[in-house]
Amino acid sequence: MANNSAVATRTVGFVSLGCPKAASDAEQILTRLRGEGYEITGGYDGADLVVVNTCGFIDAAVEESLDAIGEALAENGRVIVTGCLGAKKDAAGNDIVKTTHPKVLAVTGPHATNEVMDAVHAHLPPPAHDPFIDLVPPQGIRLTPDHYAYLKISEGCNHRCSFCIIPSMRGDLVSRPIGEVLKEAEVLANAGVKELLVISQDTSAYGVDVKYRTGFYGGKPVKTRLYELCKELGEMDMWVRLHYVYPYPSVDDLLPLMAEGKILPYLDVPFQHASHRILKLMKRPASSEKVLERIAAWRKMVPDLTIRSTFITGFPGETEAEFNELLDFLDEAKLDRVGAFAYSPVSGAAANALPNPVPDALREERKMRLMRHQEDISTQLLEAKIGRRMTVLVDEIDEDGAMARSAADAPDIDGLVIITDGHDLEVGDFAEVSIIDCDVHDLYATLAPA
Ligand code: SF4
Repeated sequence: MANNSAVATRTVGFVSLGCPKAASDAEQILTRLRGEGYEITGGYDGADLVVVNTCGFIDAAVEESLDAIGEALAENGRVIVTGCLGAKKDAAGNDIVKTTHPKVLAVTGPHATNEVMDAVHAHLPPPAHDPFIDLVPPQGIRLTPDHYAYLKISEGCNHRCSFCIIPSMRGDLVSRPIGEVLKEAEVLANAGVKELLVISQDTSAYGVDVKYRTGFYGGKPVKTRLYELCKELGEMDMWVRLHYVYPYPSVDDLLPLMAEGKILPYLDVPFQHASHRILKLMKRPASSEKVLERIAAWRKMVPDLTIRSTFITGFPGETEAEFNELLDFLDEAKLDRVGAFAYSPVSGAAANALPNPVPDALREERKMRLMRHQEDISTQLLEAKIGRRMTVLVDEIDEDGAMARSAADAPDIDGLVIITDGHDLEVGDFAEVSIIDCDVHDLYATLAPA
């Protein structure tokens, strides 16, 4: 039998920044590291080297990532960089990370697990095989709590939105094989996951790159397409929540699955604007679709559908009239959840060259105006839920009760259902509650009688 104490440990510090897609990359790297017997720590102390998973989406994220690399270099000295910033060049075409921090050991772009592992092996050879430290749970290493998990279905994007540089960092759409995605979901379900958050850059486009090729799951042929994916996931006894869905006509096909309770009646659709001219300047996918009509049709099919969206204020050339068009759209669309960002130029994005940039202060002012405008709409929609009974999933217990979420609330970005008498519940429990009150973001509830 192997003697544990005789095996020299190798410890990798891991720092992860960025969006759920970056977190999903991080989980794959962590799973491989752990599978090969590396110890993992969230800091620098005692680490033999540090991997920094970066974000390069907007300039503020670039700064944050460069600072994190600088800190890791100062505290530890041996740093491997991965993630979106790793693929980003400056105006002169030089690699931003290497130019700013020439002492980093290696740099890779996003979704580059093999390259990161090669770099780790080169600078910190794997420890000798030891069955005690090589154990990785079948569901891999996850950065989310045990009861929910992200399921990344594709990488990259075929669109070229003018404010975005993700396609230049992550490349064109590459859909994961449907059999592999469904197997991963099954493993997560078996590990006790209660909610799956389906993510990608463009979830509705799943399978386009492989012409909806037929794959296999459990010996059964299944098309690589969002509808078939959702149908299969809907059989796995977990909440299934869709993020980053564009309003293509094909999305209509998913609504019956929501009506039947197979997947959650929730759509995260990043509309970004309502003015036709601005959407064209943004080069948004599905910008010419009749969005309000589509939303009305969705709600007809699934009356309790929750729609979340994000918008950009102060995009180059946005006039006051076009901004007001956006506010009018919000009045009509009555979206449940809205996030807003003041336009922030991203180096390398085509939108930077557009004429008539909106002054910084006005972009911010419009963002605040949009949020205030939406606040009344969201509050009214929350008030309409008072008195209703619903099923919620518990995320956390604290002195105020149980912090839970309903079908209408995605983790981290939406509101909570606070169960004031839920102290005895456990994280990951489903509970039936009655809604008694609300504020601007959250609902308050008590446990419903059985
Ligand atoms: S859809 Fe547009 S914003 Fe989203 S990743 Fe693709 S190019 Fe970027």
